[in-house]
Amino acid sequence: MSSDNQGLVPYFHFVIQTEISAMRTEIEEVNDASLKKAVRLLAGGGVVAFATETVYGLGGHALNEQAVLEIFRAKQRPADNPLIVHISRVEQAFALCRWNDVAQSLAEAFWPGPLTLLLPKKDTVPDIVTAGLGTVAIRLPSHPAARALLEACGFPIAAPSANRSGRPSPTTARHVYEDLNGLIPLILDGGSCEVGLESTVLDISGETPVILRPGAVTAEQVAMVTGSCDVAPSVMRPLKPGESAPSPGMRHRHYAPKGRLTLFSGEPEAVAKEIVRRYDAAGSARILAMHAHLPLYGDRLISDLGEDAASAAHRLFYLLRAFDEQGIEEIYGETLPPSGLGLAVMNRLARAAAFNIVEV
Ligand code: AMP
Ligand code: MG
Repeated sequence: MSSDNQGLVPYFHFVIQTEISAMRTEIEEVNDASLKKAVRLLAGGGVVAFATETVYGLGGHALNEQAVLEIFRAKQRPADNPLIVHISRVEQAFALCRWNDVAQSLAEAFWPGPLTLLLPKKDTVPDIVTAGLGTVAIRLPSHPAARALLEACGFPIAAPSANRSGRPSPTTARHVYEDLNGLIPLILDGGSCEVGLESTVLDISGETPVILRPGAVTAEQVAMVTGSCDVAPSVMRPLKPGESAPSPGMRHRHYAPKGRLTLFSGEPEAVAKEIVRRYDAAGSARILAMHAHLPLYGDRLISDLGEDAASAAHRLFYLLRAFDEQGIEEIYGETLPPSGLGLAVMNRLARAAAFNIVEV
């Protein structure tokens, strides 16, 4: 057992295996009828996938242990990786955690939106939701379909990303279907997720707020409200042997394409020169580059990350999935400046590349 597992209940160290099932998975547009169906399923302890502004979530009644177990089972998520609890009104948080003034100011500034707050949990939240930890992750999403669902349910919904564990988070209903067809009864199709990366996870249990996972709400924005905000060092580097993960999700290898992804950092022209050299030697490869740099690569096969960090965030998981679908074995990617939303993009890219980053 690695040292960062210590303190957890032994039960949380194994993966809950998926049982073979022949369930039919429906994809439905969001309307009164499908929302009613989703509420019925969720109230009965079932699971439903739904769109949020970050990525698709796989939801279950957060206060029903069986429902939460079903989420872990469908995703094959390691039981030591806790879930985010979604709410539709700030007051719902009061029953789930020990709410405080910092949480209140952050909620007023960033909710509804892509910010998850870690707060000391109350006993109402089953231990399985938090993987035995003393804190609970809470978020109030802004996507209209997610809000409509949460409002209609009236109870909090635990929802991790709706991918099979180890796959990139899903940003369309089709992605969810690819991963969970036959394992869940319903996907509410809320279109393509606007942000495209998971929420910022912010620990506010200590003196200074700490970002454990970067997302669309940045450290600079949080600091405008709280005065200061740190970013956990392991956001941009692998954990050292024996180092404990600030967030359990960081222990697991995430977002890995099947092909080998190598990243290059440096001046755009130098990076492009090195990528072109490797691409031409590889025989078959793909380049992942920002739109402004496309002319540097001539007529080689390029996946366009778009104009800025926001478009790179929106497209990244979509492109990683496409690489797998097309069986691409060698991918050469540019890096982005790790500031603002660029930090969140780089956090996901670096993990997808298993921190294989070449300085040019
Ligand atoms: P997902 O919803 O699949 O994007 O995963 C939720 C993320 O939040 C994971 O990286 C978890 O490790 C993290 N998380 C949830 N609850 C906690 C908690 N109590 N302490 C630290 N990290 C948490
Ligand atoms: Mg996830």
